[in-house]
Amino acid sequence: MNKDLHIHNSLKRTKEQFEPYNPPYVGLYVCGPTVYGEAHLGHARPAVTFDLLFRYLKHLGYKVRYVRNITDVGHLESDADEGEDKIAKKARLEKLEPMEIAEHYARSYHRNMDQMNVLRPGIEPRASGHIIEQQQMVKKILENGYAYERNGSVYFDVEKYNREHNYGKLSGRNIEELRANTRELEGQQEKKNPFDFALWKKAAPEHIMQWPSDWSSGFPGWHLECSAMSTRYLGHPFDIHGGGMDLVFPHHECEIAQSTAAKGQESVRYWMHNNMVTINGQKMGKSLHNFITLNQFFSGDHELLNKAFSPMTIRFFTLQAHYRSPLDFSSEALEAAEKGLEKLLKAGELIDRIKGGDQTDLDLGDVEEKFYQAMNDDLNTPILFAHLFDLVRYINSLDQGQARIRHEDIPRLRSLYDTFVYDILGIRRESKSDSSQLPGELIEMILQIRLEAKKNKDFETADKIRDRLRELGVIVKDTKDGYDWEVKR
Ligand code: ZN
Repeated sequence: MNKDLHIHNSLKRTKEQFEPYNPPYVGLYVCGPTVYGEAHLGHARPAVTFDLLFRYLKHLGYKVRYVRNITDVGHLESDADEGEDKIAKKARLEKLEPMEIAEHYARSYHRNMDQMNVLRPGIEPRASGHIIEQQQMVKKILENGYAYERNGSVYFDVEKYNREHNYGKLSGRNIEELRANTRELEGQQEKKNPFDFALWKKAAPEHIMQWPSDWSSGFPGWHLECSAMSTRYLGHPFDIHGGGMDLVFPHHECEIAQSTAAKGQESVRYWMHNNMVTINGQKMGKSLHNFITLNQFFSGDHELLNKAFSPMTIRFFTLQAHYRSPLDFSSEALEAAEKGLEKLLKAGELIDRIKGGDQTDLDLGDVEEKFYQAMNDDLNTPILFAHLFDLVRYINSLDQGQARIRHEDIPRLRSLYDTFVYDILGIRRESKSDSSQLPGELIEMILQIRLEAKKNKDFETADKIRDRLRELGVIVKDTKDGYDWEVKR
């Protein structure tokens, strides 16, 4: 096995030979979702990207300690430390406790990720469960002189930090540029400079989520949780920090500054970022009506989709692009991906009926070497797929008796295919959820049980039944006097 893995380090903007720092395990931290809405492609891409990295590192024989957080407090509507907390806002609108919102969407996120065969991280810490660690970090930064307190809030002193360290080294920004581009906003007079960011915010009395601290009853700044939780579980420094490119600034830039200010040195050795997702060439946005959730992809229930697409199609399509390239989703592109996926899976089935001889037309050792070269080259999946589809053509020719393979090579072909397609790329054959085979009476019976659950206010069961049926291609609609359903796909 060729273990010569090179990854692109966003900090140095170069491909580097990956060498784990702490030999007992590779520390991998990925920024997870802020749980206030259904998961969409912006969640799927980093999840699939770092799932691929996690799987590949394990395949290479590394033990990986994989941490992905859940943000359930502190993520405000605006990057300028203004606006409402996203989860608290949703809770206020829906008249629920914020933790009910966080729990509901964390479960829904997990369900979607399981559907896409994204492996769960070993540790999934929540910001609200690590307030003490975050407060300790604020104290340390204050002690070291890189933060100041104003009216119960604590802000990071970017100018002071920048005099000794390089603020902007990850995103390539500099402080003059920031000064020119950040406007003084209403209510920000507390900050020395508009580009300073909050480590701790004093909460207004009506703010639902707040904790006592030395400075005020309040809540931690969003950037702080990842600095505190990554080092809490992975030590300092640790190997790889991942996330979407949209997090480079300010989130990850602030993380670097916080860790350096608190501990005298950066926490992260390799930064990896996946590129962004567009739909029909446009950025996703609620106002553009192109904001499609994963559940909508899986059900086809959106005006921009011609049909439903299975979770594996979304995964396959995502992996076909290199993680550092932009990725444009469209119904047409997904239809093509669906066909490609089917071809790939079909070839996997054909291997079992191939007959061997005593000659071969393909050196599987060469093929294997090419597969590893592609993966070792910063997880170059487009190249890997090109080689895989060469192999698919060979398998098809073998099946049609137009190519030869030695007897003893068949198990090797089986294992090569399984290792790269199933284990590393995480692609699997989905159960045939051809719902037309589900008898109507059975669907009716299940929906009666769901109706009873709803009457008993057991909404969790009711939602679970609705979501499971949706995975099977049955779309349930609640009506005034019960329900209606139809078969999609
Ligand atoms: Zn983060």
